[in-house]
Amino acid sequence: MISVCSRSMASKTPVGFIGLGNMGNPMAKNLMKHGYPLIIYDVFPDACKEFQEAGEQVVSSPADVAEKADRIITMLPTSINVVEAYSGANGILKKVKKGSLLIDSSTIDPSISKELAKEVEKMGAVFMDAPVSGGVGAARSGNLTFMVGGVEDEFAAAKELLGCMGSNVVYCGAVGTGQAAKICNNMLLAISMIGTAETMNLGIRLGLDPKLLTKILNMSSGRCWSSDTYNPVPGVMDGVPSANNYQGGFGTTLMAKDLGLAQDSATSTKSPIFLGSVAHQIYRVMCAKGYSKKDFSAVFQFLREEENF
Ligand code: NAD
Repeated sequence: MISVCSRSMASKTPVGFIGLGNMGNPMAKNLMKHGYPLIIYDVFPDACKEFQEAGEQVVSSPADVAEKADRIITMLPTSINVVEAYSGANGILKKVKKGSLLIDSSTIDPSISKELAKEVEKMGAVFMDAPVSGGVGAARSGNLTFMVGGVEDEFAAAKELLGCMGSNVVYCGAVGTGQAAKICNNMLLAISMIGTAETMNLGIRLGLDPKLLTKILNMSSGRCWSSDTYNPVPGVMDGVPSANNYQGGFGTTLMAKDLGLAQDSATSTKSPIFLGSVAHQIYRVMCAKGYSKKDFSAVFQFLREEENF
């Protein structure tokens, strides 16, 4: 086992943060609020601007982050981006220090997490997968749920940082199990969001007021997160993407990606996922029809546009 005793748990030494997008931006800000100096990198320089203005150190590659920080969090869109940030020409692995703790909070293929963990271990450092659930709102308020996979002895060290950004930090088991939990959650989320959108659309077509229908669903057995916290129908709730032309939130492309991961995992484990597969097709078609940058709750708008068939 790798010794990480040089990493002081109590110290507020700089933390590296790579990927300052919809989620990474508010997550990094919560680390700042807890007094951690940050070493920042994003491939899109504009994403770093406000951190630079706030006095944080912005560097020009993941390798530079690894040179300056022995705890690094990555929050990137896909497996390809994470592999690039770790193993690319200027990746973390080029300059990672022995004993470093590398936490990937992106949602990626669990088999990639396992491969990266092996590469990281060869360098004398530790890798953990810690994908999140909760969306941009929870990222802002520091109420994310982290699903953590990796060596159990390192969980306390990871929790010290993750606890600044989330209210639930759950140890799932060996490397890759955090991703497994996340993929399962998002498959259910996609299915329930499509179900909520279909239900709301049908109710509206039957003459029900959408706010009243939502109220009834939320006091009945159809209630779910998509109906009571993230309703997809414009005008039903404030402060959710449907109230803002489906801007921000969790992109349709990312949901299609997560359903692709569920599909791959279902194939490799020979698990039937009838509804997960249909959900994957729906989100893929939405991407092809111009919804890729909208929040995934835009499936309601998509259904409205498709309903003339
Ligand atoms: P995003 O696209 O908004 O942000 C990703 C950031 O990573 C961007 O700023 C991009 O420029 C940067 N980036 C891409 N490749 C890079 C690289 N090689 N090196 C450095 N920076 C790079 O994505 P997001 O919504 O913040 O999601 C990030 C991850 O979190 C995804 O895996 C997603 O599935 C997951 N997630 C998102 C949400 C959500 O509600 N948005 C919720 C839970 C989990």
